Amino acid sequence: MRYLSTRHTPGQSGESFCDILLEGLAPDGGLYLPETYPQVDADTRARWRTLLAEQGYAALAAEVLALFVDDIPREDLQAICARAYRTPAFSHPDIVPVTEVEDGLWVAHLSNGPTAAFKDMAMQLLGELFEYELGRRGNWLTIVGATSGDTGSSAEYALRGRQGLSVVMLTPAGRMTAFQRAQMYSLPDPNIINVAVDGVFDDCQDLVKAVNMDADFKQEWHIGAVNSINWARVVAQVAYYVATWLRVSGQVAPRTGADADTMTISVCVPSANFGNVCAAHIARSMGIPLDTLVVATNENDVLDEFFRTGVYRPRPGSETLATSSPSMDISKASNFERFVHDLLGGDSQRVAELFGKQLERDGAIDLSDAPEFARVRSDFGFVSGSSSHADRLAQIARVEAEDDYLLDPHTADGVHVARQWKRRVEGPMVVMETALPVKFAETIHEATGHLPPVPERFQGIEDAHQRVVDLDNDVEALKELIATRVRPGA
Ligand SMILES: *Cc1c(COP(=O)(O)O)cnc(C)c1O
Repeated sequence: MRYLSTRHTPGQSGESFCDILLEGLAPDGGLYLPETYPQVDADTRARWRTLLAEQGYAALAAEVLALFVDDIPREDLQAICARAYRTPAFSHPDIVPVTEVEDGLWVAHLSNGPTAAFKDMAMQLLGELFEYELGRRGNWLTIVGATSGDTGSSAEYALRGRQGLSVVMLTPAGRMTAFQRAQMYSLPDPNIINVAVDGVFDDCQDLVKAVNMDADFKQEWHIGAVNSINWARVVAQVAYYVATWLRVSGQVAPRTGADADTMTISVCVPSANFGNVCAAHIARSMGIPLDTLVVATNENDVLDEFFRTGVYRPRPGSETLATSSPSMDISKASNFERFVHDLLGGDSQRVAELFGKQLERDGAIDLSDAPEFARVRSDFGFVSGSSSHADRLAQIARVEAEDDYLLDPHTADGVHVARQWKRRVEGPMVVMETALPVKFAETIHEATGHLPPVPERFQGIEDAHQRVVDLDNDVEALKELIATRVRPGA
């Protein structure tokens, strides 16, 4: 399996999985995709069903991954997945269990990992893969990132204590919730360096960019990233769509007399950077029987606008609203280019024109008149919807009252949009749960009048000793900090 940029020139040769593992953007500014998607026939699906039942999630994930990776031996992949997806790091032995909360409405639990957000599903695997590959190459890496919450803590829990890896994570001082601060700042591992920047999230991101612009410094300190466009993160997520389909079809088919191995389900995905739902699109393209892919956004509805109108119009940061589903507050969907590449039949020259030129020139990409846009639903299964603060609160309250299940605000956005489409799509509707309510106590309280329960593994977390370095909003100060704190190769 070879990988090419979404903007590659004809005749360019591809790279291997491990070559792009540590990369972000391709040099031409595009995103990496496999040359073709491996196809999974009915026999393989039936075999995977047995494998999941008998050997569990990690074994299935290794099988799925092996279709995309030909430069890591199969036994090593199996060991990597077994370490990434296990208890007690994940609180449930199924790793991704599914629940039918109402007749025909399911939740797939992606948030049982160490930081109670679905990002752990990809990050836990990425941590193992990074350590493995750096070890093979005798290399080391300093991950420098900025976070306003979920991504940073998920990355830190995945990379803590790992050989050859250091993490310098910038956070906006005083702007995270007490729970989020406790999660990150209480990590005792010497390779995790938390930094509180005197500024807002955008300042943190600008500092990261500035450090990366200094080519000499970047090279000297082996600066890398674990951002959401990383291909390994996307492909790690394909496995849970396979597992979700196997589990839901396996429970529904015996009740309805359908054939589980061909039965379709639909999924609804709370979306921001389009990473999660991109994995659903890839699973569907591989032949996993997913009928409709419902993209759910909050008030920041860049993606909903595209799927309704054919116009992709990223917003400036100043137009990004701060909402009560904060992990979906984005102004541009950084993985979206991968889908547009596939929508346009893999025409990478057109993708380069659209994303490399037109987007910068016009601030938007307009496909409303393109014949391809007319096929987003019929050929690719995509539909969308958006949700507001009031919608989210109403769903949290309603599902708790009617179904005795407590949604987090992001999953509530998903349930709101799923209800709009449920009767118009085929098969059971599965909402992908992207976080646990414990992380968003204030909104849960507003919706229900009580605080969310604190799962056992998070009890007392806010009382633990915290470590954080204060930093002025100044790139030279950040470089100095990296140079004094990071221990290469330790
Ligand atoms: C990151 C995140 C999302 C958005 O996922 P994308 O892959 O960026 O679309 C949704 N919900 C939660 C809780 C998240 O942390």
